[in-house]
Amino acid sequence: MNTDELRQRIEYFKDLGVKELYKREAPVAATAPAPAAAAAEPIVNIALPSLAPSGDTLVQISQDIGDCSRCGLHKGRNKIVFGDGNPQAQLVFVGEGPGADEDAQGIPFVGRAGQLLTQMIEGTAKKEGIPLARADVYICNVVKCRPPENRTPEPEEMEICGQFLFRQLQVIRPKAICALGSTAAKALLGGKDGVTRLRGKWHKWHDIPLIVTYHPSYLLRAYNVEAKREAWEDLKKVLHFVYD
Ligand code: URA
Repeated sequence: MNTDELRQRIEYFKDLGVKELYKREAPVAATAPAPAAAAAEPIVNIALPSLAPSGDTLVQISQDIGDCSRCGLHKGRNKIVFGDGNPQAQLVFVGEGPGADEDAQGIPFVGRAGQLLTQMIEGTAKKEGIPLARADVYICNVVKCRPPENRTPEPEEMEICGQFLFRQLQVIRPKAICALGSTAAKALLGGKDGVTRLRGKWHKWHDIPLIVTYHPSYLLRAYNVEAKREAWEDLKKVLHFVYD
């Protein structure tokens, strides 16, 4: 990477609110010798920050988001919807982005889909003999501002806001993550697969086990009886993994 490229990338991370850069412990060249043709490149002994700056906290992330205008979604928002629940949760649910109710209140999953999610978490836990309330888990979204007409977030919006989601997950370091719907699955796992292909098995976000299940909005559609059963199976699986 030349100096100009490095400067651009540092600016990019600054825009994302990452303020701390540090040197790698071992220079990259020690493990991956550069080909002879690249030997003339200046060696810049600086690494881009890992996903979370050291000593990161949820408060810091929220402050770094600030009165965000990094993408177009800020134009239509009322409130930034950062996240809700136990900052030391063992289980984190990740949705797509705020809807109208969430945008008005600044809290994720408080509308119809949110009420269903709360019922699913608390109802399934109770049936399975696990004492768990919504307040015990942490709930957040890929994007923190409501997309117009509740459209799916654009890849660029997901990328910009996803950095804050990643920092939230790194700070909380839950025992497992539950991705709600294909937008959350794409943000966390990459790839193009939808929920039908991804659900029912374990994945990983970095080293954290991750389950994909249907988004509660999808389950609200009356004909999704089979999907409801499958979502219940997914939830049972992740709850037992985390709380047994
Ligand atoms: N849908 C989401 O994905 N997130 C919310 O917070 C609400 C609805």
